[in-house]
Amino acid sequence: MSIAQVSTMFSRYTFTHRARCLAVLPLSLLFAFSASLSSAQAADNSDPYLAGFAAYAKENGSLTASVDAYIKDVTNTVRKAGYVGKELPLPKPTKVMDGVYTVVGSLIWHTPENYGLNNNLSWVEFADGVFVFNAGPNPAVAYSFHQMIKRHTNKSVKWLAVENSQGHAYLGASYWADIGVKNLYSNQRANQDFANGFEQIKASWAARVGQAITQDARDVSDKFIEFEDKLVIDVGGGETVELLNFGPGHTPGSTLAYIPSRNLLFTGDVGYNKRSLAFFPYTHVGHWIDTFKAMQAAMPVDVVVIPGHGAPTDMATVARDTLGYMEFLRAEVQKKIDAGGKEEDMSSIDQSQYKARPVYEQTHQNNAVHLYKELTGGDLGTSFE
Ligand SMILES: [Zn+2]
Repeated sequence: MSIAQVSTMFSRYTFTHRARCLAVLPLSLLFAFSASLSSAQAADNSDPYLAGFAAYAKENGSLTASVDAYIKDVTNTVRKAGYVGKELPLPKPTKVMDGVYTVVGSLIWHTPENYGLNNNLSWVEFADGVFVFNAGPNPAVAYSFHQMIKRHTNKSVKWLAVENSQGHAYLGASYWADIGVKNLYSNQRANQDFANGFEQIKASWAARVGQAITQDARDVSDKFIEFEDKLVIDVGGGETVELLNFGPGHTPGSTLAYIPSRNLLFTGDVGYNKRSLAFFPYTHVGHWIDTFKAMQAAMPVDVVVIPGHGAPTDMATVARDTLGYMEFLRAEVQKKIDAGGKEEDMSSIDQSQYKARPVYEQTHQNNAVHLYKELTGGDLGTSFE
């Protein structure tokens, strides 16, 4: 283990609590611990810092008790704070209306540069406290978003709902649970999907966004209040938040939030603005079309929309960009099938009218193939997004 390797390690942990914790350790222990880090880290996606200590303690019997106590201490500190580290420079929040703000996430895929924040994170200020929509893709983003809220209001976060089972909606939830938010909500199916897929979802997001900011995420789905189709929250001052589910689509389970007093709707991933849609193995486009129409029918025509992806907008825009695209592509795929076309013929469908939309290149071919399989009973596969 060279000095260079150790200093690389130091810089890797600089932006979490690890550096602060490491600073109090004798250098000899640090060197020994470093040697055992890589193998322990490879074993799973638990905290590699603590895993390294655990492995070191195992090899050095006399130190076991003190190292164990140290591990417990670090773990408890993180649990109480939800996240210990520096605030990430998230995009500035967009004011949608008085007391309603949303951080519009990156319109591309999740990367280390966007910290996994490629959907929208929003908050609404009410008489009795703050309602947060989406937990964030990891505890670091959740913490940073919370600091942003605190600069706008001194009301505490009292309610939180996640749009679906995906990592960017849900992996930050342990932060909010740790800081004492008691009213956590999810559609039942989405909550079960997250619980069942937790290890894979976390591993996937940690690999693509960053281990250091993801590793403290825990499965807190047992702390969530589940609902099936509708749950009304009294948020004080005569206002309510209606949590709604209109059926499967982008994900099998989803949570939308409608606030009648503000004429405001969070569509979650039922609605997109500008960004290309991405069909995952668990996406059912036919159901999504029905779900979108049910949502549209239940909402006022002039409702203000905060979509799952893209800037705040109106229903006509998300209908054009979401429902319009799905109906177009499904009809085109069906035409090819009717003419005897096979999977490889889907690439000849002209989708160029949607070319300007972010991630078009990465999604449009797969979307057509997905629809081909959906319409012909093919195997859609599995994935953990
Ligand atoms: Zn999403």
